[in-house]
Amino acid sequence: MISIREWRANSSLDRLDCDLLLKHLLNCSRSVIAASPEKLLVEADIAQLENWKKRRIAGEPIAYILGKKEFWGLNFFVDDNVLVPRPETELLVELAERCIRDGQSILELGTGCGAVAIALVQELASKGKNVSLTATDVSPEALKICKRNLENHNIKIRLFESNWFSNISGSFDMIISNPPYIENGNPHLLALGSEPAVALVSGDDGLDAIREIIKYSSTHIKNDGYLILEHGCEQGTKVQRLFKRAGFSNVSTEKDLGGRDRVTLGKMDH
Ligand code: GLN
Repeated sequence: MISIREWRANSSLDRLDCDLLLKHLLNCSRSVIAASPEKLLVEADIAQLENWKKRRIAGEPIAYILGKKEFWGLNFFVDDNVLVPRPETELLVELAERCIRDGQSILELGTGCGAVAIALVQELASKGKNVSLTATDVSPEALKICKRNLENHNIKIRLFESNWFSNISGSFDMIISNPPYIENGNPHLLALGSEPAVALVSGDDGLDAIREIIKYSSTHIKNDGYLILEHGCEQGTKVQRLFKRAGFSNVSTEKDLGGRDRVTLGKMDH
């Protein structure tokens, strides 16, 4: 048997990762872990921690190892069929919440684990606003995970498989998406090897999905409705140009918490 302190010291993981693994294993808070460094770990616990440690060192995101990720203060089940929700994507929720009105309809394309959709519906409901949200994903595995998160949070939306607009009919007051937007061959992808490429990579300039969404959005957004898209921090100018060319007005790009261009929005003037 070894103590928490000894395992931590020899783990070669950073402190946060150690704490998250210990907290998950022992089912207690981080402060309890911090307050009990001499607590002894039994052999089975050590074996489990060593297994997780190997996966982490091999580059797997901690969220996949724990099977969960926090977003907008809520817990979401995740595995390697979906992108791990990023804190910067909370900006998409914030802007959607600001632009939508009670009783309106929203379409989210590429929902993954459903974090954006669920956070948005919860946030609006807490402010007394009801919306009808439709979410889609191209991956049947991602849809299963989204369904599980919807059940966990007791949220009801329409959810179905669609490759962007392939199965969408009708029009909405708002369309939102965090599509794949990294360009083929970008070295940043090496660090993201455990996550589904379909959720990350989109053509030679990273804009294939964004171009497709913008092009077809104009026929699926009601007059005065909004399109709100997350994109790479160097894509703001190009994305704005695509919005304007497709007939959107009031086009602007908002910065994420790190001060980087992250989300562009515009209003449809038919
Ligand atoms: N923001 C993510 C990253 O660069 C990519 C997410 C995406 O392509 N939608 O790690």
